[in-house]
Amino acid sequence: MIVVMNPGATEAEVKKITDKLKSMGYGVHLSTGENRTVIGVIGQRREEAAQAMEAMPEVEKVVFITRPFKLAGREFHPEDTVIKIGDVTIGGPEINIMAGPCAIENEEQLLQAAKAVKDAGARILRAGAFKPRTSPYSFQGLEQQGLEYLNDVRKRTGLLIITEVMDQFTVDQVAECADIIQVGARNMQNYYLLRELGKIRKPVLLKRGLSATIEEWLMAAEYILSGGNYEVILCERGIRTFEPYTRNTLDLSAVPLVKQLSHLPIIVDPSHGTGISGLVPAMSKAALAAGADGLMIEVHPNPQEALSDGPQSLTPEQFKTLVKELKGVALSVGKLI
Ligand code: PEP
Ligand code: MN
Repeated sequence: MIVVMNPGATEAEVKKITDKLKSMGYGVHLSTGENRTVIGVIGQRREEAAQAMEAMPEVEKVVFITRPFKLAGREFHPEDTVIKIGDVTIGGPEINIMAGPCAIENEEQLLQAAKAVKDAGARILRAGAFKPRTSPYSFQGLEQQGLEYLNDVRKRTGLLIITEVMDQFTVDQVAECADIIQVGARNMQNYYLLRELGKIRKPVLLKRGLSATIEEWLMAAEYILSGGNYEVILCERGIRTFEPYTRNTLDLSAVPLVKQLSHLPIIVDPSHGTGISGLVPAMSKAALAAGADGLMIEVHPNPQEALSDGPQSLTPEQFKTLVKELKGVALSVGKLI
């Protein structure tokens, strides 16, 4: 249930209401909009809470939320969530491109990829140190050594870093060098990990699970939000269908749909979404046209030699050309790169 405060309610009035709810044993989450504060109320015996709240003069109304996701939904937070990281914002009029190699392979490869990403005008470097591979015989990532290379490249280039965390035990280790923590598709429903990420105060990029419905995806986000970490970015990366020509089927209809259901920013990963580098430019443009807040694109200095996901990785030149082309698409939907 949500409690909508009167327009212009003061901080003291909001505190009075949240204190009252807490004293009754409810969990509270605040959404402070331009005109109104909305309080998300979590707990059982909601009729009792509603009655108490309706009697308060500071409260405009009480609304029961029928959808299972409460904090991720638009009722609780009508305005778009905009996440600020340094001088980058995600979820506003700015399109953000996170680009880089699937995996960190060595220091030189990472630095070359970072330079290419920066040179093309992107500001966020993606690269995996912990890699969730389908086969245990495939390259598994450089782990701590990879994180150290990332830290070094971040200092040298000023790029922001996004990298994946695979379990709840390594959250602090990854958070030390990541500006955004990535949860991979295979971990979307790892609830222990999601709970741990709810406790930290760093943006989390939550990829859609391989066969997850949109509701399951938003419920996974709800795990992080309900822990008190409100900075969640969703990432559509394709889902499993019967079609074998592409690695996954990129569900672009998820973008406007999620925008209707949720206030959270959503970006698109056409690299994993298609598995084919030749399809990445078209699907990147389509993603922006569909309303995505950004893109995640795999770029490798030499895709043919890549230790993972070479066939879907762009070369630095291809990436640079794509970013230029995307500027026009962004403008046409009222956004900027
Ligand atoms: C990745 O980003 O390299 C990755 C493993 O993606 P996903 O979790 O979407 O498969
Ligand atoms: Mn990859």
